[in-house]
Amino acid sequence: MKPMGAIPAEFRGSAPLTIAGRTADEWIAAAGDTPLFVYDVGIVAARITRLRAAMPAGLDLHYAIKANPYAPLIEAIAPLVDGLDIASKGEMALALAAKPASAISFAGPGKRNDEIEEAIAAGVTLNLESEGEAGRALAVADRLGVTPRLAVRVNPEIELRGSGMRMGGRASPFGIDADRAAELAKRVVAAGADWRGFHIFAGSQALDPQAIIETQAETLALAGRLAEEVGVTPPLVNLGGGFGIPYFPGEMPLDIEAIGAALAERMTSLPDSLKGAKFAIELGRWLVGEAGVYLTRVIDRKESRGEAFLVVDGGLHHQLAASGNFGTVVKRNYPVSVASAQKDAPVETVSVVGCLCTPLDRLADRVSLPMAQPGDVIAIFMAGAYGLSASPSAFLGHELPRQILAGRADTPNAIFTSSVP
Ligand SMILES: *Cc1c(COP(=O)(O)O)cnc(C)c1O
Repeated sequence: MKPMGAIPAEFRGSAPLTIAGRTADEWIAAAGDTPLFVYDVGIVAARITRLRAAMPAGLDLHYAIKANPYAPLIEAIAPLVDGLDIASKGEMALALAAKPASAISFAGPGKRNDEIEEAIAAGVTLNLESEGEAGRALAVADRLGVTPRLAVRVNPEIELRGSGMRMGGRASPFGIDADRAAELAKRVVAAGADWRGFHIFAGSQALDPQAIIETQAETLALAGRLAEEVGVTPPLVNLGGGFGIPYFPGEMPLDIEAIGAALAERMTSLPDSLKGAKFAIELGRWLVGEAGVYLTRVIDRKESRGEAFLVVDGGLHHQLAASGNFGTVVKRNYPVSVASAQKDAPVETVSVVGCLCTPLDRLADRVSLPMAQPGDVIAIFMAGAYGLSASPSAFLGHELPRQILAGRADTPNAIFTSSVP
């Protein structure tokens, strides 16, 4: 038997499993079938409330929609956050449907000219990733005859320790090296653009609060030095995010209260060059990851050389991360349960495998679960971020899963909306 990660508290202990006050079976009936992603927006709203209380007053909160671009979820989150961060023209359309352009910023290398043009025409802020991109943006703005909103993304000398995906402290396609960032900001200001400030993102999926505290302190210091060099107060300093969630055995939830207290303390002693600047953090995974449950039905039960397998109608084409093939080196088990199981059902050691013809498609490896049969539903938790949109859904030609928004930000337990592909 191998251990699995902890089931999020909101879902722990209910048998059969309930999500936003309804059973998994009721959500499946509402959506029409399995496989199904259920996102409990009440959980997202509660996390945002807790985060706001923990962070210094006046700190803006952005949602990075690449974590989960399901349109009804973006619509539900938009009124609860100050900005949306996007990384493509497709995400721009989703964001513009939910927030004014002035609250949207567009990061990411390789922005095409048509994306740059659409963003500038709409009034979306471009986080410039290179001098070349700055040149293209200024030329597009000239041609359109509009003042572009441009921020400079910095590739910092800072590394977010323990980060699942390091994005700073090395040669990088993201942002402009810190030693050239002030020069680019000056060029943007001199060209008459609406300079929006700096964007400094040092990593993702960190679970050590001390690492985030240190990174934020270094990020503020760097922003202060750059602002001094530019000689203009940056309107906004986006400090990045990197807040992780505990997927695996032994991992602990992040102490955001400690992070907020340290950041508040730092902000009482800002350098003069940052006086009057606004600050923001941008989060994806931490806001939505724990709110999602992937429900998939057992199609077959089989034994092979003494081991039991549950074969389900979903798989890594919908939830690649649970199979250990997205952003992890060693395969470890996400939290899973048998949604339909009653309390005190007898348990067994079993592997949950998807329906794809590849040995990679193993959603849970030799875990202890209540005995399940064909027809039972397996729940895979921590499925709210980097799930469907980060999985190879075209691989092997199966249907797309369904998605449904559960609960409401303001009225818990009501069906908010549903949408079936
Ligand atoms: C991906 C990304 C995020 C969100 O990261 P999470 O780990 O999901 O919080 C934020 N900002 C930028 C620039 C990103 O690329």
